[in-house]
Amino acid sequence: MQLLDGRVASKAVKEQLKAEVEKIVATGARAPHLAVILVGNNGASETYVASKVKTCAEIGYQSTMVRRDLDITEADLLAEIQKLNKDQSVDGILVQLPLPKHISEQKVIAAIDPTKDVDGFHPVSAGNLTLGMPTFIPATPYGIMLMLEHYQIPTKGKHAVVIGRSNIVGRPMSILLSGNNPYGNCTVTLCHSHTPNLQDICLQADIIVAALGRPGFVQPEMVKDGAIIIDVGITRVEDATAKKGYRIKGDVDFEAVAPKSSYITPVPGGVGLMTIAGLLKNTLVAYENRQEDLRR
Ligand code: NAP
Repeated sequence: MQLLDGRVASKAVKEQLKAEVEKIVATGARAPHLAVILVGNNGASETYVASKVKTCAEIGYQSTMVRRDLDITEADLLAEIQKLNKDQSVDGILVQLPLPKHISEQKVIAAIDPTKDVDGFHPVSAGNLTLGMPTFIPATPYGIMLMLEHYQIPTKGKHAVVIGRSNIVGRPMSILLSGNNPYGNCTVTLCHSHTPNLQDICLQADIIVAALGRPGFVQPEMVKDGAIIIDVGITRVEDATAKKGYRIKGDVDFEAVAPKSSYITPVPGGVGLMTIAGLLKNTLVAYENRQEDLRR
């Protein structure tokens, strides 16, 4: 079993991005700029946003954090997005999800200028991804592809089982793994809560991507020997012995499954770190596209 270590792989991506930014800034140009909107003060969202802003600083990006109260109206939030859409100094816009119930996430995502959609959730980005055209890939599946690339895991001809069909993880992951690209060309089975015989399907998998949000769901009896295991799950599970009162758990029972696997991602320290790497790669592309447009 080899660990697919998000710390190592994300460090490599960040170093590469930092070097790119240094080159850009040395020419006298401005650095890439990510704007993050955070509504309310959900603990997990605060942690994710803080980590994104911190990583921007580490690699030399500019970042702006727009904080709004939980009771912001949908109209006011859409107006904030329009402001950032028009701001020529902003390359990427990210609205941290989830949003409060009175705001339509779909409307908010669709309001983002697709050229600044660094989270890759806009319908234009999703359409391009489906058609195999250049686009912003949702950060988590993109991060997983970067992880496979970093560890040079061959995927061609493999059977990949993706558990979970959300628009931000499972579905785009299934598109990428089935696509004609260096870390794709898999035969993919996309599973969800109505899939019967999930255990039998998983037992046929060379690669399992678990993205369902059920801690410890993937057990050794679901995994064939030598399978590659990618654990996307992040769930806070109460634990009185932990300093914060909870522990982060993945969707895979790591201790039990690891001995059967050829490669496995840990939680924490796996896919989560790669998600930020994917987001920052997208932001650099948004920046480069903007500079290219200005030169025309
Ligand atoms: P989501 O929108 O809740 O989707 C969960 C998916 O799992 C749904 O498609 C659901 O099926 C399926 N599912 C639920 N229970 C199932 C079961 N027993 N058997 C088979 N399928 C089942 O979740 P998400 O946003 O994709 O996130 C999934 C997990 O990844 C969460 O733990 C989340 O915190 C984590 N996450 C991590 C990162 C990261 O950076 N590492 C990023 C995003 C999300 P139906 O469609 O039929 O309901």
